[in-house]
Amino acid sequence: MLKYELIPEQLLHEGTITNENLITPQTCTEEIILWTHEKGYLDKLLHQTLSASEQRKIGFPQSPGLTLRELIITQGTIDCCHWAFESGIALNVAGGTHHAFADRGEGFCLLNDQAVAANYLLRKKLAKKIIVVDLDVHQGNGTAKLFENEPGVFTFSMHGRHNYPFHKEKSDLDIPLADGINDAAYLSILSDTLSKLFGHVKPDFCFFQSGVDILETDKFGKLKVTIQGCKQRDEIVLSLIKKHSIPCVVCMGGGYSTDIRHILEAHCNTFRTALNL
Ligand SMILES: [Zn+2]
Repeated sequence: MLKYELIPEQLLHEGTITNENLITPQTCTEEIILWTHEKGYLDKLLHQTLSASEQRKIGFPQSPGLTLRELIITQGTIDCCHWAFESGIALNVAGGTHHAFADRGEGFCLLNDQAVAANYLLRKKLAKKIIVVDLDVHQGNGTAKLFENEPGVFTFSMHGRHNYPFHKEKSDLDIPLADGINDAAYLSILSDTLSKLFGHVKPDFCFFQSGVDILETDKFGKLKVTIQGCKQRDEIVLSLIKKHSIPCVVCMGGGYSTDIRHILEAHCNTFRTALNL
């Protein structure tokens, strides 16, 4: 997708980052993917044997290039974990593919990069209590299902009540929002919830899915959050991360505004906010 190329281009152009801040991941190994996804499903992705109906649910036609891209993005999220331990926060210019389940993909998601990375941290004993803060306008259904019986991962999803997926899974905490919610109401709910949650869950690692499909300009989202409100959302999450000294990996998630400049500006604001903490 074009936005994934434009984000680093814009950040480099404006001087928010330099080339030294960019890392280029390799592909994630099969062994690590299989800590989260089922072998039968991974084999279908690797050998291009998804059925027509499975591809329809994903929303992309299968291709070796698409599978390769997903494996690279997933490794990017794992690499970001190591950088987050070093410097507090690391951001993937893509990822946040939260609609991927153990045995299937849907909603433009093939592999669940944050789930793979969370299982990696648990397996490697690099974290004991992980929180996933999923603020994409769509519920993190794949992530919720993958960790429904995993006490080491707390899943929090705040999303549009009437948005896809229409059958929602059960996160550890779900906050479904009414259509048309504005900045003030959105930010107040988020701020109250997150500060309580961090005190209660006491996470030692955080994944933030910072989808910008909450914007009022989004084609699919039904909320009325402005670009400034979306930036304040990032400030609320990232300042709490900093206050509690919790390493955090941010992945971009969705964004479908008609004008790509709105998508780009909102995603770049997440990077700018992270840098200016
Ligand atoms: Zn979304």
